[in-house]
Amino acid sequence: MNVMIYLKVAPLINDCPNCGNQFVGNGQGTLEVDDNIIKRTCKCDFSFEYDVNNGIEKKKVKLAIDEVLKQM
Ligand SMILES: [Zn+2]
Repeated sequence: MNVMIYLKVAPLINDCPNCGNQFVGNGQGTLEVDDNIIKRTCKCDFSFEYDVNNGIEKKKVKLAIDEVLKQM
């Protein structure tokens, strides 16, 4: 993934949008980055996967995050 793209999306998911946990690793959560997919999970069961080809505008990513939160 292009670093510039990553840097746009990462601030929205660094802290878990559900519980605010800022940690990954050690069972706290995970952050995976693939070519186009960025994935964030958290010990609170938050699990978010986003294809950056869908667009990286803050509004779009936030909407996708909100969809996940609604289903929790
Ligand atoms: Zn969480």
